Amino acid sequence: MPDLSLLNSAQYQAVTAGNNPLLVIAGAGSGKTRTIVYRLAYLAERGVDPYSILLLTFTKKAAQEMLHRAASLLGSDLMGVQGGTFHAFSYALLRQFPPSWAKSNLSILDGADCTAIIGHCKDEKKIGKGDRSFPKNATVHGLISKARNKELPLEEILRRESQHLLPHAEALCELETLYHAYRREHNVLDYDDLLFELEAGLKENPALLKRMHERFRHVMVDEYQDTNMVQARLVRLLTGGDTAVMAVGDDAQSIYAFRGANVQNILEFPKLFPCCEIVRLEENYRSVQPILDIANAVLENAPVGYQKHLFSKRGCEENTVSVQVVRPFSDITQARIAARMIDGLLHTEQGADIAVLFRAGYQSYHLEIELNKLGIGFKKYGGVKYTEASHIKDVLSYLRLLLNPMDLPAFERMAGLCKGIGAKTARKLFGLAMQEDKEALRKACKKYPDFWADLQLLMEMRKNSVSPEKMLRAVIDQYQPRMELLYPDDWPRRQQGLEELAGIASSYADLAVFMADLSLENPDEAEDGDDSRQKVVLSTVHSAKGLEWKHVFILDLVEDRFPSRHAMVSAEDYEEERRLLYVACTRAKDSLRLFVPQNILQRGQGFEERAVPSPFIKEIPPRLYEEVIEQYGGVLVKQGLQKSPLQTMKPDINIFDSFKNAMAESGEETAGGQRETDSVFCAAKPKSANPAVKLGYCRHKVF
Ligand code: ATP
Ligand code: MG
Repeated sequence: MPDLSLLNSAQYQAVTAGNNPLLVIAGAGSGKTRTIVYRLAYLAERGVDPYSILLLTFTKKAAQEMLHRAASLLGSDLMGVQGGTFHAFSYALLRQFPPSWAKSNLSILDGADCTAIIGHCKDEKKIGKGDRSFPKNATVHGLISKARNKELPLEEILRRESQHLLPHAEALCELETLYHAYRREHNVLDYDDLLFELEAGLKENPALLKRMHERFRHVMVDEYQDTNMVQARLVRLLTGGDTAVMAVGDDAQSIYAFRGANVQNILEFPKLFPCCEIVRLEENYRSVQPILDIANAVLENAPVGYQKHLFSKRGCEENTVSVQVVRPFSDITQARIAARMIDGLLHTEQGADIAVLFRAGYQSYHLEIELNKLGIGFKKYGGVKYTEASHIKDVLSYLRLLLNPMDLPAFERMAGLCKGIGAKTARKLFGLAMQEDKEALRKACKKYPDFWADLQLLMEMRKNSVSPEKMLRAVIDQYQPRMELLYPDDWPRRQQGLEELAGIASSYADLAVFMADLSLENPDEAEDGDDSRQKVVLSTVHSAKGLEWKHVFILDLVEDRFPSRHAMVSAEDYEEERRLLYVACTRAKDSLRLFVPQNILQRGQGFEERAVPSPFIKEIPPRLYEEVIEQYGGVLVKQGLQKSPLQTMKPDINIFDSFKNAMAESGEETAGGQRETDSVFCAAKPKSANPAVKLGYCRHKVF
């Protein structure tokens, strides 16, 4: 029985509410997720069948964590609850109830497949040929996906966000049509299709909808502020009967507008669901007040008036500094300083709980090297997805073809592994395979015995149904000699990866389910560098959503990095970066370190350039943090030139040298080896004006 006395009164009200629509809207760390977890346990304890509960959120990890926590409150398993991401839920239903146009099992395309298909369509129709101003394939796919998610014509997206591409509007719209036709023809879905196809299925098939209404008596959605329009409509459709709906979120944490998330969904929830009960949670239980003061200051200047002022009763230990702004010489020394601070924390606190957050995956590369040098294990969320590694994609292409023989991207990939087969030949062979003319295919494959052997293997496996693990092992055996040729330098490491994959497959009985789980692994959840010594989490801010750590470091708080360069030109994107920083700061429980490097090493150019501190940091009143500045020799000194406790760091001659060299290379004076440290935020010459954007859009209502 969950102990409801551990809830405050507003949480208690939400947990024990009846079956009317329920909206919990509240600031970060106020216990929204805890409220869902307790409600899950409460409902199960009151006899609601777990099978009739649907729990939707944005990462698999978050859903699993919630179910796990609810089960431990109950003291028994919550078997049967359907929990996961919108995309995974959609794919599971689409496998059971495929769209009418589906010819066999549908496969799912990843980003690289989509980009390759765009390239294929472009070549076929000679679109943009020889025109250097024509956008890259990945950009085209990004625009098509954005138009889809925002449910706007592609031309409108160009008009709003990429006016320089308007001259290509007609060609881009043609590509959009071709890309759509290709997916239908080859029985494949991209991520966006999953949601729209499920919506279409539910609308077209009243019997299916009725079944869903009969099954799901409770639908709960966490992080509702990040739903896009089709996700909100899915929630509406699934709760069309007398199903109870509960949505939980924080409008100030909306960080997926770039993927079409619409914050109006949460604001208009009460209009869409009449008789809605609204619960507001006021108190933050996660962070000490100085950290919340920073988060409040970040939101304060938002033109959209968030009626939020986070407060906490959590006390700080005496003589501890909760928020520090750290100003390293450069992003390189930032990595060294952060690594040593982490090392220090790990030595002074047992099992210190630390995360380093950044805007984009590449920003942690230097830190990863420094942590490795110190022998500190880490786990990385975000960045390149495990299943996007080419050797993994290679072996998975065989399995994709087993499920869906019409999957041309998989066929091309598999064929490409064999000597002498280029894209053109692959397509010709695919044509023959589709005609099921075995003799013609065998003849055409005479020159490519490896490929013929691959096809034989697939046919063999199709005939004899064996477990996914056995299939995978057979494919790996076939692939091994090719891998050794393709990756002569590091095939043993890749082999290990394949071994791991076979290990994962061993827990599946059904190939379709195994492939679905793999292809739906959220790119933001991909984990890398995982090892048993793991102590520290490195994560993009997007992947850190909903999570918390005792100590949080945020890197690269300078213009063009955070806010990102793209966001500096659009008012809406700029405000999304502000909310992203709010999300990042509110992950911290006890301490927050904001890194503002004074120089940034220009990627690929080898010299450092002065950096402009992030406008969001400049907006925070300096009384809210302690500031430490890196001096020559890697020594950190408190603003005002007092010695800081962090000064115990060892001098590092290399930092000094690399800095001097970089300055010499860039032709700048180092003023006799001294640099200004008094007026920190003026030390760097502004190289671009803060766009701080006169925002024309109106304040939204917060009830
Ligand atoms: P976010 O907006 O970041 O998703 P949230 O509102 O979902 O945050 P939770 O993650 O549920 O917040 O809770 C934040 C922290 O506060 C957790 O460690 C949780 O256990 C704790 N907490 C929440 N409510 C209470 C409470 N009533 N008493 C004690 N601790 C609480
Ligand atoms: Mg939460």
